[in-house]
Amino acid sequence: MRIGHGYDVHRLVPDRKLIIGGVEIPYEKGLLGHSDADVLVHAIMDSILGALAIGDIGKLFPDTSKEYEGADSLILLKQVTDLINDKGFEIGNIDSTIIAQAPKLSPYIQTMRENIANVCNTDISNISVKATTEEKLGFTGELLGISAHAVCILKNKF
Ligand code: ZN
Repeated sequence: MRIGHGYDVHRLVPDRKLIIGGVEIPYEKGLLGHSDADVLVHAIMDSILGALAIGDIGKLFPDTSKEYEGADSLILLKQVTDLINDKGFEIGNIDSTIIAQAPKLSPYIQTMRENIANVCNTDISNISVKATTEEKLGFTGELLGISAHAVCILKNKF
């Protein structure tokens, strides 16, 4: 088995869509980034790449590349999932936490889990997504940005 950890942050700005876990969430601001800035999917991808010890998403999908401008992060996650298979592993389980003061994320958690499980070709019981606030403290608490943590276990297929 291999364990990996991922962490990501994006700034909240006006005139951007808020996409987390592949769900477009109605809100007055969105996350700034080269791709769709899906902070949760980015943390999950980094946890997988960490488990495989093959770098991070900045290395795999450079933000200087036109190809990834506005990219749907779920499509990038699919590519990372293919890498897991190529290396002879499969997902054991993934646990993640989104840290956001607002908006309220609980209505969207189930759909996020479904999106991620579908792309990763695993059962939804293997994908955990949680959300918390930082009690109005720090950059998430002051609504400047949203962060996410993820850990994953990969199992050898053979
Ligand atoms: Zn990111």
